[in-house]
Amino acid sequence: MAQTPWVRDELLLALALVVDNGWRELRQQDSRVVELSGLLRSLPLHEDAVADPRFRSPNSVSRKTTDIVTAHPDHLGETTKGGRPTQKIVADYLERPDAILAAARALRHVMDSGELHRIPPQPDETDESGELSSLEGRLLVRLALYRERDRGLRELKLRQIRRLKQPIACEVCSFDFGTTYGPLGVGYVEVHHVTPLHAIGPRETRLDDLALLCANCHRMCHRSHAGKTWRTPADLREAMHGVSIHGAS
Ligand SMILES: [Zn+2]
Ligand SMILES: [Zn+2]
Repeated sequence: MAQTPWVRDELLLALALVVDNGWRELRQQDSRVVELSGLLRSLPLHEDAVADPRFRSPNSVSRKTTDIVTAHPDHLGETTKGGRPTQKIVADYLERPDAILAAARALRHVMDSGELHRIPPQPDETDESGELSSLEGRLLVRLALYRERDRGLRELKLRQIRRLKQPIACEVCSFDFGTTYGPLGVGYVEVHHVTPLHAIGPRETRLDDLALLCANCHRMCHRSHAGKTWRTPADLREAMHGVSIHGAS
C-alpha cells in the first residue's frame, strides 16, 4: 500500500512533540510516540488508511520526528527525506513558533473534546486548488467553518445586532443585500468567525467572535494567500484601503 503523505495537521502535532523533546528525535518505544500514534490514527483525515496497521505506527511517527529534526537549518550531517511539507512546517515554526505551538495545542484540545468527530468535512475547508498550506491545518479550519454555519449562533448574532440597532450589512464594505436585491435579500448576510481558533484557543464561540459580512468579503477573509488562510475583517478593510490609496496615486 502506498504511504499516505503527512498533512499539516499531523505535522503540527509531531513538531510540537519534537519541540517538547528539546528538538531531538524520539524512539518508537517512547510513550509519547505511542500516544501520538494513537492520536494521529484517530484524526478524521485519512479514514481509509487506518485499516493498515503501519499507518502512523509508532515506528512511522518516530521516523517523522527524525525528518523534522534533520530539516532544521542548524542540523549538521545527514538529512532524511522529509518532503516539502515537513521542511515547510519547520520553516514556519522558526518564523512563528508561538502560533505553530498554539495551533498544535488547539488541535489536541478539540480532538480531546470529540467535537471534530461529529463534524462532516466542510466544502470550503481547502482552497481552490484543493490544497491547504495554512498555518493551522485543515481540521481547525473545518471546525471554525462549521461553527460559523451554526444556525443557533447566527440567530443570536443577528438578535444582538438588531438590539444594538446596527444594520444587517457587511462590516467591511457596508454592502446590504436588502438594499440591492429587495425583498429577496432582506435579512441575508453571512456570519464569519473573526479570529481563527488556533489564535484564540478552542473555546466556545462568543457573539463578539462573529462578524457580519457580504459574500465577497467573506470569501476574501477565507482565501488562501501568501501562506495565510484567514484574515480578519479589519485586515481586509485595511487591504481595501491600501488598494484605493494605491489607485488614487
Ligand atoms: Zn463586504
Ligand atoms: Zn468565515
